[in-house]
Amino acid sequence: MISMQTIIGGNWKMQLGIKESIQLAKTLVSSLQDLERVKIYVAPSFVALPEVATIIQNSPIKLAAQNMSEYESGAYTGEISPLWLKELGCEYVILGHSERRRILGESNELINKKVHNALKYGLKPILCIGESASERSSGKVKEVNARQLEKSLKDIDSDQIKNIIIAYEPVWAINSRGLNPTGEIVPATPKQAEEMHNFIQQWLVSAYGNIGKEIPLQYGGSVKPENAKDLLSISSIHGALVGGASLNSTDFVQIIRSI
Ligand code: PEP
Repeated sequence: MISMQTIIGGNWKMQLGIKESIQLAKTLVSSLQDLERVKIYVAPSFVALPEVATIIQNSPIKLAAQNMSEYESGAYTGEISPLWLKELGCEYVILGHSERRRILGESNELINKKVHNALKYGLKPILCIGESASERSSGKVKEVNARQLEKSLKDIDSDQIKNIIIAYEPVWAINSRGLNPTGEIVPATPKQAEEMHNFIQQWLVSAYGNIGKEIPLQYGGSVKPENAKDLLSISSIHGALVGGASLNSTDFVQIIRSI
């Protein structure tokens, strides 16, 4: 088994304004100076990226964007170019998050264009995939995730795949009322997450050979201080993408320290 550095990301979504993002970034920098075995990134809103970039620049925390355009520049009102993200110091970009796929209507084809565009300009995509509750209950879990992988990674070669992180985020486990309007939202059990991470790793090996084993796989979906250790002790889970709990510095730091 290849040992991989654990990678923990915080997705701040549209939850924090500029002032709150500055405050959280400052707290994280002062709490996380001594990290060696963990890679960390935070994904603030676009408007907070410049301020957060300055705050984290001499810290172990890296910058991620939550989305970007499939184009590099031009008359595309409201879009954000990968060139600008790079200029701001982003290392990563989250692509294909379930909120973008299922609430904002992004297709696998569009996400594939964004993956290519991110790589072209030196950004590392964090490609999110995951099945809904009804897809799981109708026995389509593997089929849905395999289709998202196949289509979102279309024409990505074995050199390019080394710069991609896959985040397995079952939609039903994401603490999002937009995605899960009713009922209790529960994290995947370590067994459910392990089964899918093993499946994704096998899929990557069948598509890319042994390099497939070196692609970091993050789990996302209601990761909290209470469940992080159990999930992150599984060998095919190489990190976590954290939404809600990343907005609270104590919880996020505790998740990181649980490794
Ligand atoms: C997410 O949206 O990527 C996520 C995992 O959110 P949460 O941790 O709040 O479930």
